[in-house]
Parts: sequence; C-alpha cells; structure tokens
Amino acid sequence: MGNYQIFCPTCQSVFSGYTLSCQCHSLLQTRYSKPLELRPFQGLWRFIDWLPCEKPLDTKAGSITFRSDHLGRELGLTNLIIGFTGYWPERHAYNLTGSFKDLEASPTVARAKENGVNALAIASAGNTARAFAHMANKTGFEVYLIVPESSLSMLWTPEAPTHSVHLIAVKADYYKSIEVTASFCQIKGIFPEGGAKNVARRDGMGTVMLDAATTMKRLPDHYFQAIGSGTGAIGCWEMAERLRIHGWTGKPKLHLSQNKPFVPIYSAWKARRRHILTEDMPQAEQSINQLHAVVLSNRNPPYSVAGGVYDALVDTDGEMYAVTNSEAKQAGKLFESLEGIDLLPAAEVAVASLIQAVEENYINRDDWVLLNVTGGGIKRIGEDFGFHEIKPEITIDDPDCNLEEFFS
Ligand SMILES: *Cc1c(COP(=O)(O)O)cnc(C)c1O
Ligand SMILES: [Zn+2]
Repeated sequence: MGNYQIFCPTCQSVFSGYTLSCQCHSLLQTRYSKPLELRPFQGLWRFIDWLPCEKPLDTKAGSITFRSDHLGRELGLTNLIIGFTGYWPERHAYNLTGSFKDLEASPTVARAKENGVNALAIASAGNTARAFAHMANKTGFEVYLIVPESSLSMLWTPEAPTHSVHLIAVKADYYKSIEVTASFCQIKGIFPEGGAKNVARRDGMGTVMLDAATTMKRLPDHYFQAIGSGTGAIGCWEMAERLRIHGWTGKPKLHLSQNKPFVPIYSAWKARRRHILTEDMPQAEQSINQLHAVVLSNRNPPYSVAGGVYDALVDTDGEMYAVTNSEAKQAGKLFESLEGIDLLPAAEVAVASLIQAVEENYINRDDWVLLNVTGGGIKRIGEDFGFHEIKPEITIDDPDCNLEEFFS
C-alpha cells in the first residue's frame, strides 16, 4: 500500500495490512505520505488521500459542513459551524443509515477488501451495525452483526437486506455483545472489525474534521460531540493534528458529552483520572436502560489507552459534559425547529452540551465552533426509502453459555 503507513506512536513499530493492535497496546495510527489534496469523488472519498484505502467504493457517505445562522443566532454565536452526517437531500447529505457510522463503514469495508479480508464481525449498540448492514447490501461484503436484543429496532436498512448480512442478537447489553463478538471471531475464524482500534474507522469519522476545515479554511477553536466510546472524537482530534503538521493553524478544544445517568468518561475526567473505575458507572445496567441515547453506552471505552480519549482531552485542555434525557430532547426539538431536520438522540446530546457551554461562558461569541451533528434525517429516510427490518438469524439468551455450541 503506497500512500500510508500504520505505526505505533509509542514504540514506533510499523505495520501493514488489516492490523489492529501493537504489543504495547497503544492505538495504532496512520501516517499519510502525501499532503491532503481533494479528489473529484463523492462524499468522504474526496479525502481518500488520507484514508487507509486506495479505491473509492460506490457510496455517497460523507459529512456536510454549513454555517448555522439560526441556532447560531439563538445561542449568540457568530461562527457556529455544523458538521452534519445524516440524510438531508436538500443539503446533499446522503448517509442512508442516518448516522456518522456510515463514515466508518465505507473506508473499513474498502480497507478490508483491499487486504483480502472477506468478512468482518461487528459488535454494535445499533447504529454501527446498521451502517455495516447497508454497506454489505451495497457491496456484497459479508458482515456478522452482534447486537443487544434491545437494539433490534435500530436494525433496518434503506433497502431490502441481502444474504451478505448476518444478524445475531444477544440478550444483554453492548458490553456483553463485545465479549460475544470476540468469542465468535475465535470460533469462526472471522476478522473482528476492531472498533476504536481500527484506523479506517477513526480516519473515516475524522473526515468530519477534514470537511469542516477545508470548508472553513481553518481549524475550529472548539469541537463538540456526544461520545460513547469516543472513537469519532479521537478520529477528529487525530485529523486536526495531521492538518497542523501540514501548517494549518489553530487547535480545536474537545467538548465531549455523555448522557446521564450513564457517564463513565465524564466522571473519570472530572476527577482527572486516566482510568475509569466501577464507581464511575454505578448500577451500570440499570443506568444504560434509562438512556435516551443508548448508542452512548460503552462500558469499556478507549479512554485510558495511549492515544485515546484521556490523552485527547489532556492535549486540547478539553471539557466533558453530562446531559439529562430531558435536556437532550429539548435541545433536539430546538434544533429541529430552527434548522429543519430531526436528530438522532446522541446528536441531541451534543446540541445540549453546546447550550451548557454557552450558559457556562466556556466559549466567546466570535470563536469558531464545530458542532458534530452525528446523526439525523431519519424521518426523511423513512419517507424516501422505508425502513427494511433485519431479522436475527440467532438469538443468544445467555451470553455466558457455551458459545461453541451456538457457532460451530
Ligand atoms: C456512535 C455514535 C456516537 C458516538 O460516537 P463515538 O465517538 O464513537 O463515541 C454519537 N452519535 C451517534 C449518532 C452515533 O451513532
Ligand atoms: Zn507499540
């Protein structure tokens, strides 16, 4: 592969292929040899120089960037910039599963195919599985999606599901689904997609920063996003650093938010701890069941790992926010009434965190603020395509049972 290297920022080892980890357990990163040059492709493929794959696939996934006049005026911000990844045809946003998980699925499948990987297994709280299911339908690439049973309502595609999609439901939360996925991969000899460790996932999500920066012709002063794992936020932070290496000025401060009552990263960061303790997520299961934005429910996020969320927050002097369900819903209503598009719950959490930041005077009125609106336009997807339900092939009642029997 000519245009990039995968390297470990801690021990400097260099890797190739679909490598997910280093012996020293740091997050691997990509290093691109060429400066960023926009290519004449659609969506995020314009940034293929800075994606770990060589050939674009036939997808239109990609974020759009626009200045928010309405919400900006409401909040008294002159330079509120929205990075939107969802479905909004009038603004040329065609993410057909409605979230920025489309940004990771496209380059991940391209990277896998180019490295001779024919199938991937993916643990998901919902939106990631939907994005990969859509990619599988479009490209014939096989995916095994392992999701909590409670997330099944999120498992639809904008077209009829094909034989390339295999859905496995687990009667447990996202955390358990990740464990089941690890066993599944071992038993079946299928590649794990890798989550935060997958550089294609992070760089794909990082294109939100590239689209915003190339539109604004500068880096933002502030970056707002709701996080479960923080993978997208790490991706955007890494992209901002790449741009800085290439002479762009500015350094976006990360403002990351979680949904109360499940806020492990918020709690650990407020105590300035590199490690998440069980006390940061009391009664985890019940808390997760109460969440408006259930995709933000990761119990084991890449927080303390070198190059992870903690390091990103330290590096940018970042801020964490905790948002209640009602604050999120109110913020979502406000956004829809002002900007004219419905949001996914997690994106509502991000909008609510921006409102908190303005109330706390954390930002100046003329600062350049990038609000990552990570999902929306679901109503329009329903109108234009309909929701085609994916049915589970297997349901696992007890995730601690002998999975060999299930999978062999
Ligand atoms: C996954 C997801 C998030 C959280 O992203 P991470 O940075 O990976 O934690 C936010 N919003 C939406 C809509 C998502 O699907
Ligand atoms: Zn290493």
